[in-house]
Amino acid sequence: MSEILSRDHALALDAADPLRALRRQFLIPRHGSGEQTYFVGNSLGLQPRGAQDMVKEVMQQWAELAVEGHFTGPTRWLNYHRLVSTQLAEVVGAQSSEVVAMNTLSVNLHLMMVSFYRPTPERPVILMEAGAFPTDRHAVEAQIRFHGHDPAQCLVEVQPDEPNGTISMAAIEAAIQAHGPRLALVLWPGVQYRTGQAFDLQSIAALARGKGARVGFDLAHSVGNMPLQLHDWAPDFAVWCHYKYLNSGPGAVAGAFVHERHHRDAGLPRFAGWWGHEESTRFQMAPQFVPAAGAEGWQLSNPPILGLAPLRASLALFEQAGMEALRAKSLRLTGMLEALVNTRVPQVLEVITPADPAQRGCQLSLRVSGGRARGRALFEHLHSVGVLGDWREPDVIRISPTPLYNRYQDLHHFVDEVEAWAGL
Ligand SMILES: *Cc1c(COP(=O)(O)O)cnc(C)c1O
Repeated sequence: MSEILSRDHALALDAADPLRALRRQFLIPRHGSGEQTYFVGNSLGLQPRGAQDMVKEVMQQWAELAVEGHFTGPTRWLNYHRLVSTQLAEVVGAQSSEVVAMNTLSVNLHLMMVSFYRPTPERPVILMEAGAFPTDRHAVEAQIRFHGHDPAQCLVEVQPDEPNGTISMAAIEAAIQAHGPRLALVLWPGVQYRTGQAFDLQSIAALARGKGARVGFDLAHSVGNMPLQLHDWAPDFAVWCHYKYLNSGPGAVAGAFVHERHHRDAGLPRFAGWWGHEESTRFQMAPQFVPAAGAEGWQLSNPPILGLAPLRASLALFEQAGMEALRAKSLRLTGMLEALVNTRVPQVLEVITPADPAQRGCQLSLRVSGGRARGRALFEHLHSVGVLGDWREPDVIRISPTPLYNRYQDLHHFVDEVEAWAGL
């Protein structure tokens, strides 16, 4: 085996890793007398140590100040959502007025489509990927029906055209060209949850807009995983959640982006709520809705402060590390995982995520040879020895080393256990 795939090399990389101190900022679940080897940051990120303090601060402020906590105390709840907007904007490459933390992902997707899916008889179509995450498919179909249209006519799904179920840029471009004049909206993921394929969002936004369509992104698997430049790529909107790579806890408050060019368009239809009302006059409680400029104008309710609190702890770590440094480590981690799998256990696991590092983030999707039962047996073995990945039917294990808390030596632990199980 080549030197760079040795355990000693992994240990040396860990010792020299400029981000190594960040691991200690997370609570790592126990396995026996040690720690789990946790590769499921794509599903539920680990708890930052600072999260409990942020939650406690809210509980204490509530205990001591009650209603006054809206206006006084260390964190005035009145503008609590704004405590995260600068750091969040940094993570997604936006201006702070373009992002807002609110609701949950599926809710935000609906709210954004209310404003940005405006079908006309000539342009009724939504273009998306086949095999999208179910909630995206459900929301799109529901929106089409809500407008009195038929999904059979108005939903176009781009089929995977590559052997492992990935979709080429050529296929996406051809679909946008073919349906161009009838496209109302192109909805695309940043990273496909099943295959781990990352898409060229800049090109997709440009192609869709070039055809006169709106374009929105679901960044559930991208945010905190890959560098994003939402302002410059200029989709109309984007939505994401904060419990995956953003480590903000189960059901954490989600995020949304609305591009600056829409901020002063009072003619955009939207489902309004009082928290989206322009702030200086919100408490005059007048019947007429005047939207706040920016993404904040899409808020409905005063936010669940407890659900937002952990996000502050997580974003502080992203600010400390920087997305560029995280991506640099992520490329090495995932590249090493791929090399270890391909050299040591190719009879057991096949990488179905694209080999081109530009077309993937942290995650590798690994197809277990020999079918579902064998796949489940391996998955359960890994779980029993404290190596956590997640399972996607019928035969895929997803492993997502994340640069905030995974180490190079974790990759060896994983491959050692696969070898041991397979009797290699
Ligand atoms: C995780 C995920 C969701 C989850 O939606 P919630 O509203 O947060 O439950 C939606 N879409 C995609 C693509 C996801 O990966």
